[in-house]
Amino acid sequence: MSKQRFAAIAESQRRSPLNVDENGRRSELYAENVFNDERMLQYLTIDALDSVRNAIFSGSKINRKVADQVAEAMKAWAISMGATHYTHWFQPLTGATAEKHDAFFDLLSDGRALEKFGGAQLVQQEPDASSFPSGGIRNTFEARGYTAWDPTSPAFVYGTTLCIPTIFVSYTGEALDNKTPLLRALHAIDEAATGVAKYFDKNVVKVNATLGWEQEYFLIDRALANSRTDISMTGRTLIGNSAAKGQQLDDHYFGVIPNRAIAFMKELEKECLLLGIPVKTRHNEVAPNQFELAPVFEEANLAVDHNLLLMDVMDKIAAKHNFKVLFHEKPFAGINGSGKHNNWSLTTDTGVNLLSPGSTPMKNLQFLTFFVNTIKAVDNYEELLRSSIASASNDHRLGANEAPPAIISIFIGKQLGNVLDELEGVTKGKLSPEEKTELKLNVVGKIPEILLDNTDRNRTSPFAFTGNKFEMRGVGAKTNCAKPMTILNTIVAKQLRDFKKEVDALIDKKNLKKDEAVFNVLREYIKTSKRIRFDGDGYSDNWEKEAKRRKLSNNKNTPQALKVLTSEDSLSLFQTTGVLSETEVKARQEVELEAYIMHVQIEARVLKELVYNQVVPTAVEYQSRLIKNVLGLKEIYGAAHTGLSDAPSSIIEQIGENIAELKKKTDAMAAAVVKADKMADTSKKASAYCDNVLSYFESIREHCDLLEQLVDDRLWPLTKYRELLFIR
Ligand code: ADP
Ligand code: MG
Repeated sequence: MSKQRFAAIAESQRRSPLNVDENGRRSELYAENVFNDERMLQYLTIDALDSVRNAIFSGSKINRKVADQVAEAMKAWAISMGATHYTHWFQPLTGATAEKHDAFFDLLSDGRALEKFGGAQLVQQEPDASSFPSGGIRNTFEARGYTAWDPTSPAFVYGTTLCIPTIFVSYTGEALDNKTPLLRALHAIDEAATGVAKYFDKNVVKVNATLGWEQEYFLIDRALANSRTDISMTGRTLIGNSAAKGQQLDDHYFGVIPNRAIAFMKELEKECLLLGIPVKTRHNEVAPNQFELAPVFEEANLAVDHNLLLMDVMDKIAAKHNFKVLFHEKPFAGINGSGKHNNWSLTTDTGVNLLSPGSTPMKNLQFLTFFVNTIKAVDNYEELLRSSIASASNDHRLGANEAPPAIISIFIGKQLGNVLDELEGVTKGKLSPEEKTELKLNVVGKIPEILLDNTDRNRTSPFAFTGNKFEMRGVGAKTNCAKPMTILNTIVAKQLRDFKKEVDALIDKKNLKKDEAVFNVLREYIKTSKRIRFDGDGYSDNWEKEAKRRKLSNNKNTPQALKVLTSEDSLSLFQTTGVLSETEVKARQEVELEAYIMHVQIEARVLKELVYNQVVPTAVEYQSRLIKNVLGLKEIYGAAHTGLSDAPSSIIEQIGENIAELKKKTDAMAAAVVKADKMADTSKKASAYCDNVLSYFESIREHCDLLEQLVDDRLWPLTKYRELLFIR
């Protein structure tokens, strides 16, 4: 009998929901552990506070004296909150977060306390970072990497540590993290969008990109999850026969959340609120044991930090509740995977959502301007946007048989589609007074009403307009949102810059009025970006074919999807927007490819281990029992045994055939690994892992799953799908 599996099942069945302290009103808990504006007001002089506020608003530098004061204040506050250590909290290219803890105090040999946290420690640190991926940047330039304070994301106390959000750069200033390029992209979009927003309102000084993510995840009993090597080593099941019941009954979706999960969520939400993460909704997702958590949207940099912090908090609280959280995009075959929709918009410092239609024709023209420019940007750089969500784990959703597909397209609904069609007919050059009135009354003026009853919902398109924001749906559950947000804001920034140049030229050279010029440029954009619009019906079966005809990219795997990063177009985009230098782009591509290789390599090793050490021995053991049974029957019944032993004999053969095939394929996979490992070129090696190693996984799995169905349940060593997914 398989001891580990049954011990895990017994353990999981003994559990009951933990008691969660539910004291404290939400509004009182909110941001209690955050060194935000309110706290700074208490702890800083007004001059110092102004300096920090300016840095947050306009990116101005904070001088050393102020930094010292902020550090002092932060420390005093953090110690009053029970903190003993501080850390620079940063986002290396691994995709996760990293921290290095230092105590606030050191003891000298004579016993006197030495204070270690001042402005210098706040502003800059030099972590021993040699083991973080850098795509060769640090080799090329200088071995050291520095973390530097990002004042736009407030410090917070987590446990007994003061965490200070920072960027991570090389000695020569190259970005070694995901935050630096995001901040640059947010700066670029601020500048470009403010320029365009000024056409409509001169008072706009700043535009913030906003992000509201929706985090999907699986919650699996800790003992059950840990009983499987594949889940603990790779975050997903590499083999496993589907449970008789999956998600086909749809009874989990919006159903009652199981009690243990509720207890986990309550504690999680409380912790999130303390940390200033404005969580709002929780519900079940489509698959069993799958859930979603969404906050109120925030400024994009802060929202990214909050999502990363959330994932960390989830891990810790799950452990306390004897769960393991799976963020993998496809932990189980045959049921839905997990994504992280990124809802995105642009908001002015005057409080206007630029992707929300308003009450006047001018406001609607502003909406249309940002709406059409976003469409145009995505059309120009669809392949780059796809690359920003590419990873070994997300490949199992995008491009596999799960919505959304790897093809980037935009869904805007029929009504808005009609509006764009109308705008395509706008006269070239000057507009007659009649045409202007007509546009105002019947096209632009109607938008708010259209959107009110816009019930269009489409799941195929990975980029959808949902009333007052765009929703990017292809982002993986595990992905650091900084990556897609960097690309999206960069491409829209570039587009808005180009737009402004074109409109200004029409005003200056062709003597058009501002609104005429805007209409003229938008008309051309609408015409030239038609292929990116996915209108829903009609293509469901052959969208791939149609997309190919439209020359939209369809990169189904990561090595293929990452190629575009270093195309001439991409490099020039990154350079003109100031988001990434050529060195930085190449380094990123290299790091992503290496991550892909490592992922598949680890999975191949684990799979081989499962086959040789668990599946085959178990199958052989059961087969031997059957052989003994057949021999026994023969001994007792002599020639008459055949009728009686047909069934066991046939199972013996089936097991034998599957083992033979399994061995053949596993050995071939292992040989492909050896061959791929000899390749020097990272890109070729990644493709080899994808085409020659990963390609064996499915058929190896098939044989394992067939054997699982044949072998005595009591012998099977791996916790089964039905146990992982339905024990609560
Ligand atoms: P739904 O009907 O899809 O649930 P919601 O309005 O509840 O739509 O929004 C879903 C997500 O979109 C939430 O995470 C929310 O914070 C986010 N969101 C809403 N408005 C914006 C916005 N202007 N910018 C960015 N995200 C937004
Ligand atoms: Mg959504």
